[in-house]
Amino acid sequence: MPEIRRLFLNHMPMGHFTKFNIIYDKAYWLEEGLSGELTSNGGKTFVPGISAGPLGIVFDATTDNGVPALVGFIAAKNGVEWNEVDREVRKRAVLEDLAKAFGPWALNPVLYTEKNWSEEPYAGGCPVAYNVPGVAFSFKSFREPHGRVFWAGTESATKWAGYISGGIQAGERAAAEVIHNLFPG
Ligand SMILES: Cc1cc2nc3c(=O)[nH]c(=O)nc-3n(C[C@H](O)[C@H](O)[C@H](O)COP(=O)(O)OP(=O)(O)OC[C@H]3O[C@@H](n4cnc5c(N)ncnc54)[C@H](O)[C@@H]3O)c2cc1C
Repeated sequence: MPEIRRLFLNHMPMGHFTKFNIIYDKAYWLEEGLSGELTSNGGKTFVPGISAGPLGIVFDATTDNGVPALVGFIAAKNGVEWNEVDREVRKRAVLEDLAKAFGPWALNPVLYTEKNWSEEPYAGGCPVAYNVPGVAFSFKSFREPHGRVFWAGTESATKWAGYISGGIQAGERAAAEVIHNLFPG
C-alpha cells in the first residue's frame, strides 16, 4: 500500500463496544409510550471495582418480522471494565439498569445475548473506526487510487465515515472512479 494510505489506516482504530441483544415476548416499551431508546453515562453500579453501570446507548431493535428486541452497547472504558466480570453478573446489571429506565418487565427477557467485538480478530472492535485528531487533515490524499486499486471502504467516505452509510457512499464513489478510469468522459 502507498505510505499515505498505510499511515491513514494505522491511525484509524476501531471503537470498543460490547453489544447486547435482548429479545422480549412483546414490545413493552411501546405499550408504555416509550421509544426504547436511551443514552447514559452508566450511573451507579452495585459491582465493586467497576466505575459505572453498563448502559451506554440502547435502541429498539425489533426485527422486520416483528421479534421485539432491544439492542445496546457497553461503551469504551465501561466496556473494558465490564468484560472483566462474570457474564451472569454483567447480564444482571444490564437487565436491572434497563428495568430502572423502562420498567420491571425488562428483568424477564426471552433471550439475552452479548458479544465483545474487540475479541473478533478481523473486526477488532465495534461499531466503527474513527480518525485520531489531525489524520483527515494530514493524509488528505488517502482516497486517491493506487494504480489499478481503488478505495471503497467506509473509512474513505466523505460523510458518515466508519458507518454503513459511509460504506455505501464510498462504494458508489469508487465504482464511479473505476467507470471514469475505463471510459474517461
Ligand atoms: C458490531 C458492529 C456493529 C455495527 N453497528 C453499526 C450500526 O449500528 N450502524 C452503522 O452505520 N454501522 C455499524 N457498524 C459499522 C458497519 O458495519 C461498517 O461501517 C460497514 O460494514 C463498513 O462497510 P465496508 O464495505 O467499508 O467494509 P466491510 O463491511 O468490512 O466489507 C469489507 C468486505 O471485504 C471483505 N474482504 C476483506 N479482505 C478481503 C480480501 N483480501 N479479499 C476479498 N474480500 C476481502 C470482507 O470479508 C468484507 O466482506 C457496525 C460494525 C460492527 C462490527
